Amino acid sequence: DLADIGVTGLAVMGRNLARNLARHGYGVAVHNRSAGKTRALVEEFGHEGTFHPAEDLESFVASLKRPRRAIIMVKAGAGTDAVIERLAALMEPGDMIVDGGNAHFEDTRRREAALRERGIHFVGAGISGGEEGALNGPSIMPGGSRESYEALGPILEDIAAKVDGVPCATYVGPDGAGHFVKMVHNGIEYADMQLIAESYDLLRQASGLSPAELAGVFREWNAGELESYLIEITAEVLDQVDAGTGRPLVDVIVDRAEQKGTGRWTVQSALELGVPVTGIAEAVFARALSGHPEQRAAARSLAGPDEGPVAGRELVEDVRRALYASKIVAYAQGFDQMAAASREYGWDLDLGAMATIWRGGCIIRARFLDRIREAYDENRELPTLLTAPAFAGALAEAQDSWRKVVATAARIGVPTPGFSSALAYYDGLRRDRLPASLIQGLRDYFGAHTYQRVDKEGVFHTDWSGDRAEHQA
Ligand code: NDP
Repeated sequence: DLADIGVTGLAVMGRNLARNLARHGYGVAVHNRSAGKTRALVEEFGHEGTFHPAEDLESFVASLKRPRRAIIMVKAGAGTDAVIERLAALMEPGDMIVDGGNAHFEDTRRREAALRERGIHFVGAGISGGEEGALNGPSIMPGGSRESYEALGPILEDIAAKVDGVPCATYVGPDGAGHFVKMVHNGIEYADMQLIAESYDLLRQASGLSPAELAGVFREWNAGELESYLIEITAEVLDQVDAGTGRPLVDVIVDRAEQKGTGRWTVQSALELGVPVTGIAEAVFARALSGHPEQRAAARSLAGPDEGPVAGRELVEDVRRALYASKIVAYAQGFDQMAAASREYGWDLDLGAMATIWRGGCIIRARFLDRIREAYDENRELPTLLTAPAFAGALAEAQDSWRKVVATAARIGVPTPGFSSALAYYDGLRRDRLPASLIQGLRDYFGAHTYQRVDKEGVFHTDWSGDRAEHQA
């Protein structure tokens, strides 16, 4: 009696994924480097389904039905390579190795190419939703060969979250596409959280609202177009009172935001691709700023504005609109990055489908993603989400509030890099003429880098150090 699928790496994610598979009726081979975790899983949760515990990788692989399907859920990095190598040595052409960890997509590309040569399908699957999602239905972003998806897809779609009956899992694209999309998902998650944090900070400083009052504000927002998991849990965190001190928990948590690195990867990739993902970049940098206590201590003596609270509750609706508009920008940028990567790596990503599988299971799940899917349904070649009718309308409605919020924040000295950079991006794209023409002039001046003209074809250079006449280059 052989197992349908196997999971190796049984820390929180692997264990819960294995349980999810077993609860859906699959026979699951389970293995972990240190056997204690394997035994603990079977002891505690063996009654949930059919597990095939294995003490070593040889018996793990031997217990799998052919073609074999093995999911790796180990700590991403060098360990993943070691486990892949050992698994591959025990497998045969046609078998499938799925890496469900947070691998960098370039690693996934490299691993997929190496295993393809040996006839083994390597699937880099982004899995989002944390341990809770792994157990009850994650969002799954698998990349690899189409052929492997035929054997794996039905299982992944079975255990994934469902929204309106539609699974939050689909074939993403070849080689590293799945891990790339997961990376951008995480980058967008950074941007979303930064915008929420700015909304909280500004309303607290400018309007004098308490964390408990702000919890109520977020709860109200969650009933409208901002409805999402992150807004929902923001209300929960703001409402929490510290048992020991009686103070709002948010006031006793050290204000230094950490990161595991997927946000940074997103920005690094965006820089390579030349896509301005300012929302994600500002979010990563804001966390970096929070992590420099020495500089922050030194800077506390720098001059700031005299103004205290400047607004009452009337700012709440303005901030809500600024948040929504900035969120649209951050998502538009993330989707641009996926489109650029799709062209660069030949992935043929279906952007609407990516919005669909993010509607449930994952951290950025939101009603809003339906709007994105609809926008791509209407026009697959949309140049930017900002111009999709639903979003262009929302931006038009929000822009006065957005400008007011950014101005208010600047006036009272509350940093809103997310709101401000999103507005700058919006205005940058809208501009008829950008000052990039001056930059081109400067580049030509000091480096003879040449420029193009608006009124004729060709490439030109002005002889800046000589007679200042223009020549065609
Ligand atoms: P960890 O990232 O904490 O990794 C621990 C697991 O990796 C243990 O099973 C450990 O085995 C195994 N491991 C580490 N190094 C090796 C090695 N060299 N050889 C064999 N096994 C090794 O576990 P998580 O469950 O948190 O995450 C698993 C993967 O899922 C990671 O890639 C993570 O980035 C990703 N992920 C995690 C999410 C989360 O919310 N935690 C969300 C989405 C993805 P042992 O018990 O023997 O030490």
